[in-house]
Amino acid sequence: MDIYFYNTLTRKKEKFKPIDTKEIKIYSCGPTVYKDATIGNMRTNIFQDVLRRVLKYNGYKIKHVMNITDVGHLVSDGDEGEDKMIKSAREEHKTPLEIANHYTDLFFKDLEELNIETPEVVCRATKHIQEMIEYVQKLVDNGYAYETSTAIYFDISKLDKYPILSNLNLEEQKAGARVEVDVEKKNPYDFALWIKAPENHLMKWDSPWGKCYPGWHIECSAMGKKYLGEQFDIHTGGIDLIPTHHENEIAQSKGACGKVPANYWLHGEYLLIDGGKMSKSLGNVYLLKDIINKGYDPLVYKLFTYSGHYRNKLNFTWEGIEATSKSLERLKQGYQNHKNGKDDISEEKIQEFENKFHEAINDDLNMPLAMGIVWEVVRYEKKSPKLAQLLLKFDTVLGLKIDEQIQKEEQEIPQEVLDLMEERKIARQNKDWAKADAIREKIRNMGYEVRDT
Ligand code: AMP
Ligand code: ZN
Repeated sequence: MDIYFYNTLTRKKEKFKPIDTKEIKIYSCGPTVYKDATIGNMRTNIFQDVLRRVLKYNGYKIKHVMNITDVGHLVSDGDEGEDKMIKSAREEHKTPLEIANHYTDLFFKDLEELNIETPEVVCRATKHIQEMIEYVQKLVDNGYAYETSTAIYFDISKLDKYPILSNLNLEEQKAGARVEVDVEKKNPYDFALWIKAPENHLMKWDSPWGKCYPGWHIECSAMGKKYLGEQFDIHTGGIDLIPTHHENEIAQSKGACGKVPANYWLHGEYLLIDGGKMSKSLGNVYLLKDIINKGYDPLVYKLFTYSGHYRNKLNFTWEGIEATSKSLERLKQGYQNHKNGKDDISEEKIQEFENKFHEAINDDLNMPLAMGIVWEVVRYEKKSPKLAQLLLKFDTVLGLKIDEQIQKEEQEIPQEVLDLMEERKIARQNKDWAKADAIREKIRNMGYEVRDT
């Protein structure tokens, strides 16, 4: 069955044609590991997980690369301000490496909680400095980059077309009152590839241009090329990456090898909180652990994100999470009902359900539509193990472990867990929330989930 994706590059929904049907190559821009990942970040990761799973459902083998930005992402996307890693290190009195390790571990813990598959290649920027230097050198050699007293810049005037992915208005930018960081820049949109480090800069490496550190965009071009080649199938990320990061990745790639690196560019829309932006100042920055600490299975959040198409904004509310929690239970119960059913069901009917689900996921990952089919199967009046099998097949895309919790309930809960539950109950009565949370974590590590109802 054909797959269709909305391609940001062409602004159209297009039939997916892989470069090599043996293996689909995907690159996803990963986290900058200087702070906790939010449920907004996780929405983007869930969308990328669905993409993987849908390709696999269609029988494809995949090679998925995700980078970890642990250097070079400055506070402002316009090559201004401090490096986010260094700022965080200073504020938390740690080294940048400690910060990177800490937040990388937390990020992967969240992915695991959400049953998000780990990409085949996870690569850190700081482990690919040599590849970045070679990439910058190539851009200099090809005449697409120039040196100033502060950095090596990409010269966008050398490109036949810029921007090609977004609707940036270069004229407006030129006319704008933006104060340039570097007066030696030839064009306002030229961006830093490689930045000369001041004497006391924490992260810097020897290079042909002295002690430097990378600009934000070069790592993805260098690592994408290393692991996937000059051109691959799909590039993904959050919608905010389109006008700067992805635009500049394309520019780098065109300068280095004359090619747009990926054929299909897929972007996930933002998660809103109570209809607005998630922000520290509004006090509405939620992490996955906030959902877990309220007693919800983290997969409730994954299911919640399926209520919107990945290209639409999605509004998070606690009421929505509460309702989805009941839905996940009904889904699991529905699976069990079919598993224990004795009704006869025709192959045609099963095929009809399967086709509808398959069409929905292949139509630009239309999860709201796919979930509609899932519910049709769950609610089908005849109960049959064949439909339970079909739901399990659907779950290879949903990743909701629909068969799991109930199995656990069938097991006996070990005495050690029961003792911890009792200890936690007392901690809660004493309003010792820190202790209660710590015990909950301990229980989780033993494979059990505490639900406060
Ligand atoms: P950040 O840590 O803010 O640089 O974000 C990392 C990635 O998560 C970016 O690619 C964003 O597109 C994505 N992201 C950040 N906030 C949200 C949000 N509220 N909803 C969806 N994706 C987000
Ligand atoms: Zn990137």
